[in-house]
Amino acid sequence: VIFLQSLPKAELHAHLNGSIPIQTIMELAQQYSPSSAQTTEVADTIEKLMSGVILNEISDFFSLFPAIYALTSTPEAVATVTRAVLQSFLNPTGDGAESPQCAYLELRTTPRATTHMTRERCLTAVLDEIEMYPATQAALIVSVDRRMSDFDVEECVSLAIEMKNRGRRIVGIDVCGDPRSGDMQSFTQHLSKAKGAGLGLTVHIAECTENTTEDSLAFLSCHPDRLGHATFLSDELKTLFFADISQPETECGSLSLSPSPPHWISKSQRGQYKPCVEICLSSNLLTKTVTSLDAHHIHYYLKNDHPIVICTDDTLPFRTSCLGEYSLLLAQPPLGLGLGRDDVARIARMGMDAAFLRPRD
Ligand code: IMP
Repeated sequence: VIFLQSLPKAELHAHLNGSIPIQTIMELAQQYSPSSAQTTEVADTIEKLMSGVILNEISDFFSLFPAIYALTSTPEAVATVTRAVLQSFLNPTGDGAESPQCAYLELRTTPRATTHMTRERCLTAVLDEIEMYPATQAALIVSVDRRMSDFDVEECVSLAIEMKNRGRRIVGIDVCGDPRSGDMQSFTQHLSKAKGAGLGLTVHIAECTENTTEDSLAFLSCHPDRLGHATFLSDELKTLFFADISQPETECGSLSLSPSPPHWISKSQRGQYKPCVEICLSSNLLTKTVTSLDAHHIHYYLKNDHPIVICTDDTLPFRTSCLGEYSLLLAQPPLGLGLGRDDVARIARMGMDAAFLRPRD
């Protein structure tokens, strides 16, 4: 534990509303004065979170959020949860340890408009808290949800660019949300605009079996800097985009690609594009997208010397922490991957190097 605590780690894939400490959720629930029939939903969700969520399918996971959102619908509540999440990652853990969970946090959130706040007010509440920490410690990624309309995606991306240009600490754009929904081809123009404006780009890609090759291709054609999960990214796409292959461009295995391989992937470029993959071990096991650590796609990326970063995803439902995730690397199989300290230290360094806002710059 001392070894893991002393290792500088970057947490680059943590969703704000999925990372609220249970204590903070309880406090917000006590103050909650519902105006609608949401009371029962909130009570049920809190009970599930308290007793340990059991997820039988991925929709069980997304159905937790309406109740959490009911508790975080005002700028004050957004500020409260952001403060608590930042503290949980960046303040010393309090159990006698002097080091925090991580040295650097890139927190992400989807800007929400409610009857109490605009999207901009929501982001302002989050940024006001983030900017209390030095830039070397915390920054924000603005998420857009796969279920959003074209209009909403455009609004969120434009807002992120505008606020970044005003000097607010927004460093990237993420695409998240229920992986079974949305047409990602229509998102690409907005993602390219974000990249063009100097924002980092990360996308939840191939998170479940329902995600098609076209879906992944649409994302990969935007050349994201990082990829979330990438659990079901096919070998053909990995070979086409990442591996050092010598086949001529016309031979792309049995892929029937529509649209055809992005023009920017020239033969000479293949093997040079290695976007860091955000690995969330507990999240994948608990949402049952991966059956065991042995079967986890982390092995592919480690074997191929492809950059990865170890992340928590949603500490609230998954009851994990940065230290918990890193412990899974060190622990002996079947409880962990059984990696040596040198490998774990190297992985932690890769994570720090993959930050959008280079922590050591
Ligand atoms: P928020 O963006 O701060 O509101 O964080 C919660 C949101 O993150 C959820 O509503 C989901 O859209 C998204 N999210 C959290 N975990 C995952 C995941 O594993 N895959 C895709 N989306 C996720």
